[in-house]
Amino acid sequence: MAILDRFRLDGRTAIVTGGGQGIGRSFCHALGEAGAKVAVADIDEGCARTVVSELEAKGCTAMALRADVTDERQVAAMVDAVVDAWGVLTVSVNNAGIGIWREAEGMELGEWRRLMALNLDAVFLCAREAARVMAPAGYGKIINTASMSAHIVNTPQNQVAYNSSKAAVLHMTRSLAAEWAPKGIRVNSISPGYTRTLLVDKLLETPEGQSMLPEWLPRIPLGHMASPEDLQGAIVYLAAEVSDYMTGADLLIDGGYCCW
Ligand code: NAD
Repeated sequence: MAILDRFRLDGRTAIVTGGGQGIGRSFCHALGEAGAKVAVADIDEGCARTVVSELEAKGCTAMALRADVTDERQVAAMVDAVVDAWGVLTVSVNNAGIGIWREAEGMELGEWRRLMALNLDAVFLCAREAARVMAPAGYGKIINTASMSAHIVNTPQNQVAYNSSKAAVLHMTRSLAAEWAPKGIRVNSISPGYTRTLLVDKLLETPEGQSMLPEWLPRIPLGHMASPEDLQGAIVYLAAEVSDYMTGADLLIDGGYCCW
């Protein structure tokens, strides 16, 4: 097959969690444009519906699913909804996540657990439920959104819970990749650097956040934050047949931040 054809996703189906905005929305557009049917899953159903309308306007097939991915039953129902509608789940993008800036000594256990429930536990739940239907098919692509914060400690803001959750996502990715390779399921991750989305905008709205940009930009060799579109090539690559020999790997897309 010609090389660019091996990046096509025709006949594949995908779920993107947190697909209603930001990086997840950008992933939905990339997967849809490359030919996949896309289930846009989000706790905010309105956002998910908007993204579905955008995709349908481009001629893509898509559906909106309301799911709180920290809830085990809702995750199972999300996966079942795709299989019921489209017969198969090929690609599971486990992307929903939150950031919290807090000094470690001021961080309450409830807040720590709230972050871990979404950034770590939910990634496991979504991967496990995807594998439940991918394993009998003998094929699947699981792609977790980690972060450059899995590789380095951001500065100057303090975010011990976020950094720990993303480092755990990386090792979960490797662990599941090894465990599920005999079943034909590939598990990889994408680690974005600072990316201009609402998650970052909300943090930058805080007084602490306003002082951050002048600290961050000189640390990025390419000199600016990513846009969500900068991550689209990676998601198509990892979802497509062309990357079938890759598993347990992380694609770091950070403008060079981790070079220094
Ligand atoms: P965002 O806040 O813009 O979007 C997150 C989406 O997740 C929203 O649509 C939200 O409604 C949804 N969501 C939140 N809780 C949910 C839940 N319980 N169940 C289902 N959906 C839920 O965030 P973003 O910047 O697009 O980040 C997406 C992912 O990328 C996260 O895992 C984040 O940690 C990671 N990331 C972001 C950056 C960045 O700079 N923006 C950098 C590295 C990694």
